[in-house]
Amino acid sequence: MTTGSGTVHVVGAGLAGLAAAVELAAAGRSVELYEAGRHAGGRCRSFLDEELGCRIDNGNHLLLGGNRAALRYLERIGALDTLEVPPDAVFPFFDAETGERWTLRPNRGVLPWWIFSPQRRVPGTRAIDYLAALELRRAHPSAMVAEALDRQGRLFRRLWEPLAVAALNTRAERASARLFWRILAETLGRGAAACRPLVPREGLSETFVDPAVAYLRTRGAGVHFGARLRALRFDADRLSQLLFETGSLGLGSGDTLILAVPAAAAVRLVPALTAPDGHSPIVNAHFRCAAPAGSPRFIGVIGGAAQWVFRKREVLSVTVSAADSMVDRPAGELRELLWHDVAAAYRMPARPVPPGRIVKERRATFIASPEQTRRRPAPRSRWENLLLAGDYVHTGLPATIEGAIRSGFTAARQAVVRRWGAFAGGRTSVACVGSGTSRYEQEQQRFL
Ligand SMILES: Cc1cc2nc3c(=O)[nH]c(=O)nc-3n(C[C@H](O)[C@H](O)[C@H](O)COP(=O)(O)OP(=O)(O)OC[C@H]3O[C@@H](n4cnc5c(N)ncnc54)[C@H](O)[C@@H]3O)c2cc1C
Repeated sequence: MTTGSGTVHVVGAGLAGLAAAVELAAAGRSVELYEAGRHAGGRCRSFLDEELGCRIDNGNHLLLGGNRAALRYLERIGALDTLEVPPDAVFPFFDAETGERWTLRPNRGVLPWWIFSPQRRVPGTRAIDYLAALELRRAHPSAMVAEALDRQGRLFRRLWEPLAVAALNTRAERASARLFWRILAETLGRGAAACRPLVPREGLSETFVDPAVAYLRTRGAGVHFGARLRALRFDADRLSQLLFETGSLGLGSGDTLILAVPAAAAVRLVPALTAPDGHSPIVNAHFRCAAPAGSPRFIGVIGGAAQWVFRKREVLSVTVSAADSMVDRPAGELRELLWHDVAAAYRMPARPVPPGRIVKERRATFIASPEQTRRRPAPRSRWENLLLAGDYVHTGLPATIEGAIRSGFTAARQAVVRRWGAFAGGRTSVACVGSGTSRYEQEQQRFL
């Protein structure tokens, strides 16, 4: 059953587009979702790797307990129980240079007393080192992570730098201090529950994508694959036509488009749109092998070529973010290099190197620098019936699952606002985005 006269057309079935479509379908709106590829999920998906003979994810994606929009999305599509939820926030680390191992254990509750406990914090650091991270909050909008923190300190090398590189996919010398602060404030700053690592039990598609597509179909939404949007036609202050490779579609007076394609595609489609134009690569290596039983689900590697290693059912998977120095190296070389660290971290034999697949995502995310951040557009365009969604849109977060889903929610909400004239926490709006304006939506308003 749909409500409202207009249809919301959502183009791009990555997480931003899926989140927008799901929220609108949940609110009873008429929704049509179009995706250029044959599958949904965009940069967050699983696929069968013929060579390895098993399903793998395009890249390891770590969700944290503080990613509230992502959790609400998963709840909506009935996929919360596809996540493995550890009882506590436990982060094992391995130093590839010294061979040292330690485990970071933030405590429950918001008062961070764990920083006073040598058993819970990084070895060789003091409580005061952690408090220095408050400098990030006060940092100038143009400041980088490495400028705001003491980069000579042990804590920088063993915690802040690896966290910043993982969360922002940008080297600490280039990454925005403010963006890093937002991540810390929503996770580590909120205690163990908010930084519990949540990993899909099966794969990214089984958690984030397939249940969403099934949800949309059950709600009567159209999901169209192989539908690449080639151009947009405008008529004064309105978007009037969508030109797909397969045909064109006129927009009625109540219809809206949520354009949820990556920044580079959006810039080609929307005249005079400014968006981030610098991208940062991520390299993943997936080794088909069985890790020792009972070994950690993931390990952070310090001072090696590998950065984070994840133990999955049939593979050990390695992530290297901000991988500019690796992305052009041959796959065979990367397999050798990365397996060396994986074997050491998981106490496995260095030889033979198991069968492995290297996945290079050259444009994994936009560079989370102050300069690129300034190029992020608001979700509203100058055309009244065209909204933008995607991890590159101004969300206040770096390009992440949480950011993409928030932007989808915001666009869905704006589409409802457009239809009903004003947002007053009324019935339709509540159905669309949760009960009234939630905290993250209020926060987000500051960026719009
Ligand atoms: C290797 C890797 C590892 C990552 N790790 C993490 C992590 O650990 N934690 C985290 O939170 N985030 C991580 N991310 C980031 C996260 O995956 C992205 O921020 C998020 O998936 C982006 O979603 P999106 O919907 O904005 O864009 P996309 O996923 O790019 O979706 C856009 C969709 O639009 C489609 N499209 C493009 N052009 C057209 C067109 N003309 N017509 C129709 N459709 C079109 C595309 O095919 C695509 O499906 C990682 C990303 C990568 C690549």
